[in-house]
Amino acid sequence: MILHLVQGTPQESVHALRSMLEAEGLRTFLSPESSRPIVAIVDKVPAALAAALAERPEVSEIHQPAGDWRLVDRSYRELPSVVRIGGVKLGGGQVSIIAGPCSVEGADFMFEAARAVRSAGAHLLRGGAFKPRSTPYAFQGFGVEGLRQLKDAGEREGLPVVTEIMDAADLPAFLDHDVDCLQVGARNMQNFTLLKAIAGAGRPVLLKRGLSATVKEWLYAAEYLAAGGCHQVVLCERGIRTFESATRNTLDLTILPLLREWTHLPVVVDPAHAAGIARLIPPLSRAAVAAGADGIAVEVHPRPELARSDGPQALLPGELAGLVAEARVIAAVTGRGLHALPASPR
Ligand code: PEP
Ligand code: MN
Repeated sequence: MILHLVQGTPQESVHALRSMLEAEGLRTFLSPESSRPIVAIVDKVPAALAAALAERPEVSEIHQPAGDWRLVDRSYRELPSVVRIGGVKLGGGQVSIIAGPCSVEGADFMFEAARAVRSAGAHLLRGGAFKPRSTPYAFQGFGVEGLRQLKDAGEREGLPVVTEIMDAADLPAFLDHDVDCLQVGARNMQNFTLLKAIAGAGRPVLLKRGLSATVKEWLYAAEYLAAGGCHQVVLCERGIRTFESATRNTLDLTILPLLREWTHLPVVVDPAHAAGIARLIPPLSRAAVAAGADGIAVEVHPRPELARSDGPQALLPGELAGLVAEARVIAAVTGRGLHALPASPR
């Protein structure tokens, strides 16, 4: 249950209300919302207490989330939340583009890829250093060395970086390399130990939807992050497993408008891991922006045929530039634009 208190309710009254609820054995959270106090009650509220709460003068509205989450519920914020990754915003009514290779493949390669991402007009640089590969014989990523190569390339181009963390034990290395955003991949969406471990790291998290996760399960995973203190969560739809085998996965755009109703979190769409085929990515990206996505995440490689992972779904640098230009046009149709780019160091 989420309580919206009357604007201007004094802090002492908010405190007294929470103390009363806590004394009843109900845990509460206070929203970081600045416009007015919003209190989430974690535990089930007995009917008599719910009725009494509705009568209290400081309570203006009571909301019931559509699922068993609290802090990621739409009603926990006055406006949809805006996540800041380095100097880049995600959410807040404008669109951002995340792009980069699937895997970090070396220092010079990363500089080349970052240059392409910057000149295409994308906002954030991605690249995996720890790779969740389906077989143990496939390229597993350069690990910590890859984090350094990614971050160096991002700094040279003035692009904040996003990269996947698979093991909580690696978190110190991610923080040492000042990774701007931690990606939780589809295979780890329900790794609750990992979610709890990174929630307190003070970094934004890009939470990809699990291969077979329902929207509710996905929001429960986001709730783990929020309950652990992470208020900077971005959801990423990347396709789900269905009976369809013509494409790698099935991009589920159906849930975009529903997520708008259910959660305040920004939502990015990754059509690359959904389609698995590069030429399908531009039309799917247009569809995602038209359906209201806050951002697009794609993979780019200067020589896709040599890519160490996910080559068939990698865009060429020129194709990425075209995708960014189209995203701007479609965003305009939906009354939006692209977010400002981070400052260039040159
Ligand atoms: C990736 O982003 O390269 C990746 C492995 O994504 P996903 O977890 O969505 O498969
Ligand atoms: Mn990939």
